[in-house]
Amino acid sequence: MTLTSFDPSHFLIMVVDDTPPNLKVMGSILESVGYKTTFAISGQQVLDRLATLKPDLILLDWMMPEMDGLEVCQKLQRHPDYSHIPIIFLTARQDRESCVQAFNSGAVDYITKPFNRSELLARVRTHLRLKDLSDRLQKSLTEVEILARTDSLTGILNRRSLFEFAAAEFQRAHRYDVIFSVIIFDVDHFKTVNDRYGHLIGDVVLKVIAAKVQSQLRSLDGFGRYGGEEFVIVLPESNLTAAATLGNRLCTSLSTLKLPDLDPAPQITASFGVATYTATDHSIDDLFSRADQALYYAKQAGRNCCYANITHPTSHHLNCTQLAQDCH
Ligand code: GH3
Ligand code: MG
Ligand code: MG
Repeated sequence: MTLTSFDPSHFLIMVVDDTPPNLKVMGSILESVGYKTTFAISGQQVLDRLATLKPDLILLDWMMPEMDGLEVCQKLQRHPDYSHIPIIFLTARQDRESCVQAFNSGAVDYITKPFNRSELLARVRTHLRLKDLSDRLQKSLTEVEILARTDSLTGILNRRSLFEFAAAEFQRAHRYDVIFSVIIFDVDHFKTVNDRYGHLIGDVVLKVIAAKVQSQLRSLDGFGRYGGEEFVIVLPESNLTAAATLGNRLCTSLSTLKLPDLDPAPQITASFGVATYTATDHSIDDLFSRADQALYYAKQAGRNCCYANITHPTSHHLNCTQLAQDCH
């Protein structure tokens, strides 16, 4: 919204006062310039109404029985869902100390009664503009953050945020002595898919693969594009057997994947490598590299299968195996 396109009818203002005639006066002033209004006659009613209403601004009386305005203001400031709602005090308390107390409790402005109508409307408008700008900024920031961690083709995590997720899981495992595993999988002979159907269809195939895998993961798992046609799944709280079981299941499900109407229909398969965290791992790279070795074994073994790296941490002898064999 630009400064010239301010439309009061887009804003809902909650007026809080324990004296009904005051509510009536405030309501008619605000509605006369087009604002939507709602009311509360006590602190408790503010809290009750906020459960269903989302006012853009609150005009708050100070002196009310039971819960006074200051306490209402402090309660709203502490509440994560309400702390962003600007609060303007509208009070008969003229002393400077109260004014400072109100600002310190999170109020954005302080108006004393009797108030001037035009000044009140000018202040309300200014704070609504600021709130609107701040809401838009927050929304853009959230969008940018999502974009920055998303792989634009598949919508899953991109390489950078995948590493961040994995590194955080590594730290957690290291600190709290918990387990986690990773799966790396690589689409088989994907170059042939591109060569035969073209790069655009290749892209569609990658999207379908990502969606199929994502649909079989838990919400706590991290799933991202490692690069090209290679993907990584980070599985918190999963041991090697659980991860290998999942790897085998995904392997089977990709090999039976329904793809967009293509003639001849491509046979899509992928090869999977699994490894689990051990306390002797120095960094997430150690774990990725073991999963990568298992993936290499799977490719060597003829593709469309899942291998787990069971190399003992103290051994230099690489040992990868198919823990379960429901692929093919
Ligand atoms: P392998 O079974 O050994 O993995 O064989 P492959 O053909 O899958 O492996 P290779 O590394 O030879 O080729 C990978 C291909 O994946 C080549 C590359 O053009 C393609 N590719 C990588 N990223 C993308 C992408 O974003 N879109 C499309 N369409 N193709 C991609
Ligand atoms: Mg490949
Ligand atoms: Mg590859």
